[in-house]
Amino acid sequence: MAEDVPTAELVSRYLSQVREMYGDEIYLDISNRHRSSFSYNSLDGFEAGIRECQKCPLGETRTKFVFGVGDPDADLVLVGEAPGRDEDLRGEPFVGRAGQLLDRILAAIDFTREQVYICNVIKCRPPNNRTPASEEIETCLPYLEEQLEMIRPKLIVALGATAARVLISVKSPLAQLRSKLWKWREVDVVVTYHPAALLRNPGLKRVAWEDFQWIRQVVEGN
Ligand code: URA
Repeated sequence: MAEDVPTAELVSRYLSQVREMYGDEIYLDISNRHRSSFSYNSLDGFEAGIRECQKCPLGETRTKFVFGVGDPDADLVLVGEAPGRDEDLRGEPFVGRAGQLLDRILAAIDFTREQVYICNVIKCRPPNNRTPASEEIETCLPYLEEQLEMIRPKLIVALGATAARVLISVKSPLAQLRSKLWKWREVDVVVTYHPAALLRNPGLKRVAWEDFQWIRQVVEGN
């Protein structure tokens, strides 16, 4: 049976062992950086390294790998769900109808696509635009995490429920996730409606408008 040792005693034993092995100096890593399994120096290099990915079955059915576009030093990153048909053909996120609406929303808060960074949770189109399976999300997630670590924006906007679940690990209905500042690692996250939801339900546009006004203020640090 394992002995029942108080935590302080365990810490003391551990420190004694460390002292025996390394002497009196202890080095602590107090950086908040997460350990990465990749070692790319730029987003372009990262994209070149993973664009032939075949880690899940979506690699076989995609036309193009959809990595992400925009400013690698952006203050604002927008994360959608997965490429659709237009994005799969072009190899660029948010270029179809939902993307055109996203461009108009960004313009309304004085941003261009080039000034922000846009990507998806999943880098390859799920056939018939079905919701990505949890294994696909899990397999692809290290790519998104690495992109976000490399950019380290001021603010991440989760567009819709899939991005919200992945980034803030909360499953509540989207309406309850809006208007709050969440965290992904140490970066602020705001959740709002996916532009495709706004196309399906134009009644949501007014609240999305309010979200984006606030998003602009958060990026400006107000
Ligand atoms: N919907 C998304 O979530 N991402 C895209 O790139 C296009 C549509």
